[in-house]
Amino acid sequence: MAEENQGTTTQAVPHTQAKQHTQAKETSQSNENTQAKSNSNDTANRKPNHNNRNRNNNQNKQDGDKPKSNNNRNNNASRNANSNNKNKNRNRHRRQATPVDENLKTFVTKNQEEHKQRLNPHYKLDLNSKAKIRITPLGGLGEIGGNIMVFETEKEAILVDVGMSFPDETMHGVDILIPDFAYLREIRSKIVGVIITHAHEDHIGAMPYLYKEMQFPIYGTPLPLAMIGNKFDEHHIKEHRKYFNPIVKRQKIKIGNDFEVEWMHMTHSILDSSSVAITTDAGTVIHTGDFKIDYTPVDGYTTDIHRLAAYGEKGVLCLLSDSTNSHNPTPTGSELSVAPALDRIFSKAEGRVLLSTFSSNIHRVQQAIQYGIKYGRKICVIGRSMERNIEIAMQYDYVRFPKNIFIDADEVNRYEDKEVLIVTTGSQGEANSALFRMSIGEHRHIKIKPNDLIVLSSRAIPGNEGSISGMLNHLQRAGASIAMSKDIHVSGHASMEEQKLMLRLVNPKFFLPIHGEYNHVMKHRETGMMCGVPERNILLMTDGEQIEVAPKYMRKVKTVKTGKTYIDNQNNHKIEDDIILDRQKLASDGVVMLVAEVSEQNSKMLSKPKVTTFGIVPDKMDKTFAKEMEDILEIFLTNIKPGLIENSRALENDIRQVVRKHIFRKMKKYPLIVPHILVH
Ligand SMILES: [Zn+2]
Repeated sequence: MAEENQGTTTQAVPHTQAKQHTQAKETSQSNENTQAKSNSNDTANRKPNHNNRNRNNNQNKQDGDKPKSNNNRNNNASRNANSNNKNKNRNRHRRQATPVDENLKTFVTKNQEEHKQRLNPHYKLDLNSKAKIRITPLGGLGEIGGNIMVFETEKEAILVDVGMSFPDETMHGVDILIPDFAYLREIRSKIVGVIITHAHEDHIGAMPYLYKEMQFPIYGTPLPLAMIGNKFDEHHIKEHRKYFNPIVKRQKIKIGNDFEVEWMHMTHSILDSSSVAITTDAGTVIHTGDFKIDYTPVDGYTTDIHRLAAYGEKGVLCLLSDSTNSHNPTPTGSELSVAPALDRIFSKAEGRVLLSTFSSNIHRVQQAIQYGIKYGRKICVIGRSMERNIEIAMQYDYVRFPKNIFIDADEVNRYEDKEVLIVTTGSQGEANSALFRMSIGEHRHIKIKPNDLIVLSSRAIPGNEGSISGMLNHLQRAGASIAMSKDIHVSGHASMEEQKLMLRLVNPKFFLPIHGEYNHVMKHRETGMMCGVPERNILLMTDGEQIEVAPKYMRKVKTVKTGKTYIDNQNNHKIEDDIILDRQKLASDGVVMLVAEVSEQNSKMLSKPKVTTFGIVPDKMDKTFAKEMEDILEIFLTNIKPGLIENSRALENDIRQVVRKHIFRKMKKYPLIVPHILVH
């Protein structure tokens, strides 16, 4: 806590910072305490605030000639208190300034200098270097997800992560979004590798789509590569597994001629996550990936703060850090912190337990399974992504379970309710998930029973609240009880305090907050400034903005094309933009189709036009509406411009406009209008 207090009081002004740090922690604190006790008459000393601390400080300096009371850090509190009292008493009689020990004073200056150097290691950067690096986010800024970042030198480029994101409700029939690869096509010949930080969908989900089009060596730790491999298999591009280059954390590797990259272990809501340190001639850039600082991770592999600190000591040019939780002032809990709640839930459950979480959160699943085993339950895993992720984690030895604890979905009914734990997908209420299908009675093997306990060990991703609530209604109607208290989920992202730790460890010259909407990165900028990065050294990026960083400066240089490509998951194919626009129009304004036969000689209708509408007039009004359309067509044809009848395209266009005007005047709607005019 002491460090924290000091941190917050010393933010912006480096000089004050140096001053405060020159005090030994114990000395300043014990003095403060004892003084508050012993000088109870001195009202100014009652509240030990920072002014007092400084005053205390000055006093210590003045009393420098009494080494016994002030310079011995090992003094116990009572001796300290006595000597302070004595000093006070003497001072009362003798107000003149005490002589200053000039030698000690020079050491104060030397210490201040040391602190300055320690806090600003950037003098180690080569300011005369002409080298620079360009950084371009093609996704992941101004949005949550879809992360992809390009790092470029003069001749080469690498990508960090190639992720997907989810559509909003206006993108009808779209399952996922992938970044627009236009800029990558432009610099294709420069790209020497793809760097993967971790295996979340918003960091690897667009890999198969990129690799169907262009291929580069892929560098990452085993779990992300295994998961990408799985995607390649699903997309029938198994052969691209040959681009895999598994790496070992802490071992620097050269990529192309210009990049040297080191992976550093990070804790996050998926196993085997990393930060990367990318070193070029311009200096070292650290990209945190997604992270939180977990001091007690389930597998014991803590965040590699030592490597981060080592880079910080050497002098880091630029830090790109995860902003997802930048509004959260409460430190993010350890993954282990959900254990007591899980234990409590399992110890009390009388029927089956159905636990749902994000399928990629293997450590959560692992903990659930452990408590299942502890309370004598067999484990049934249901849901394609959950089954696959557990399988990969076991295959590659990230987690170990006794084989005989698993049962299949069709075996569940052979066991007592109290002997069953079902681990499943669907924590977001997704309509095609296992839990949702169970909730509406459509799962082949599992029917919800009145004594079932459903545990939602997750949070609602913004936008999913409605579907989750709908699913809960179904589950409760079927008689199940629900456990979804806050203590059975913990975030995977750094809150403010951990962001501060990252900033202090890395101590960057320049800072680019990443991963988040504008408000997230803006809040992260504030945190950066609190941690000593000057405001002018922080830029807030949005997708497509290219930033140039050199030891001397950081600036925006240009904007490149970005956007989203719509994907239909049924066939893994792209959906063109105009299809989505048409669907939006159909959904909000409906469609009108007109088929008419017109004589070429006299421009008259040869028969009644056929009018079909959807989503614009009720069925019972169909006839009236058809008559209206007939009248409009007739008037149009009577006044038709000469020659138009021969040009069917222009003719249909004009008709469309006339009909549109009429419908808008009457109904204030712009439906799709589809005229077919057959001229004989
Ligand atoms: Zn992540």
